[in-house]
Amino acid sequence: VNRADVHYFGAGPAPLPTAVLEKASQVLLNYKDKGIGLCEISHRSPEANAILTEAKQALVTLLDIPDDYEILFLQSGGSGEFSAVVYNLVSVWVEKKRAKIAEEVGDDKAEVLKRLRKVVDEELRLDYLVTGSWSLKASQEATRLTGAKHVNIALDARKANDGKFGVVPPEDQWSLTPRTSGGGPAFVYFCDNETVDGVEFPAFPRSLEGDDAPLVCADMSSNFISRKVDVRKYAVIFGGAQKNIGNTGIAIVILRKSLLPPHSTPASPDVLRELNLPVGPIVLDYPTIAKNNSLYNTLPIFDVWVAGQVMAGLVDSYGAKRIGGQEEVSNEKARLIYETLDKYSHVYRVVPDKTARSRMNICFRVHGGDADKEKAFLAGAEKKGLLGLKGHRSVGGIRASNYNAVSIEGAKKLVAFLEEYAQ
Ligand code: PLP
Repeated sequence: VNRADVHYFGAGPAPLPTAVLEKASQVLLNYKDKGIGLCEISHRSPEANAILTEAKQALVTLLDIPDDYEILFLQSGGSGEFSAVVYNLVSVWVEKKRAKIAEEVGDDKAEVLKRLRKVVDEELRLDYLVTGSWSLKASQEATRLTGAKHVNIALDARKANDGKFGVVPPEDQWSLTPRTSGGGPAFVYFCDNETVDGVEFPAFPRSLEGDDAPLVCADMSSNFISRKVDVRKYAVIFGGAQKNIGNTGIAIVILRKSLLPPHSTPASPDVLRELNLPVGPIVLDYPTIAKNNSLYNTLPIFDVWVAGQVMAGLVDSYGAKRIGGQEEVSNEKARLIYETLDKYSHVYRVVPDKTARSRMNICFRVHGGDADKEKAFLAGAEKKGLLGLKGHRSVGGIRASNYNAVSIEGAKKLVAFLEEYAQ
């Protein structure tokens, strides 16, 4: 089967630009005429450093990332960041509280600890907005690490939708930990795009804005670099590379520098242990990764190279529009597909509510979810070279993942098949 005859709509790993893959096969054999390939050279070589710098620069250009943000590359996958945000932000929160108490109490360590224990007990709250399977998993990881008492499920979107994901209920229905002077949640977490359920936040939540806004962490694994993002509103943005940016192997973290030394100090592991709070592995420790320019341990530099090539390609394609150019394309592809699904609503039913439809993962049922008919639909699509359309095993149905490497032409071919099938 010829690569050019296939359009792949899988949810990740996902397609990459053919030109990048062609160049990749060459650099795997012989990088920059050194006679050795990119997977074979040191991650501490000047070549590797240049690759890191270029990938960072492309991301900075695309998303207009301000100077007071750090970019980290880690092997953690998206799931590793579920844990990393908890370890790192809880640690910063605890140290801030400890320092304040120490200022009042002085050197009496036992007294500081006693008061700190009380503060942690009464005030440490991590707010999770649960709008789909991935934010649910992240909240479960927070609970596993810190205990249920410290995790506030500020929103469980299923409660507003007959027990199923598919909506982002209005913000006045959320129960965020109240902001008080010096208080409020340690952070608020949400998943910007829910890959399994096809739910995307239409915009940044208004209730997380303002002068005393909480630290906001967002999982952008499945809609990274697909639309404009006001990075300043976030403390942490993270995502695995394997959907919109590159191949499997790295996660990218965009982190507010004020959460790193010298602006913020992490709590000492001894203090965390005294408080029964988790001490994270060093490879997820943001200060350590940042201090070492993401090279604390071996970084898969080939994966960074692929991501850098994809991002540099977008910078070249869209020029001054930067990620706005990709946003227009992503929106147009999603519009074409949803419009067709809505046009034939007697055959197709889009799963999520219209107000929260993802531009990236378009989830729908065929003939009300009739198993045989959905099977036939998938087989018909496959005959046309439209692959990877099967929904996630936990929810079934059809899912067309509309990541950046899916071309307008690919979206149009899917639309033509949707039309033909419905007719
Ligand atoms: N977050 C989202 C939104 C995802 O879609 C996924 C994987 O599909 C993950 C996190 C987990 O990523 P990983 O498999 O890299 O751990």
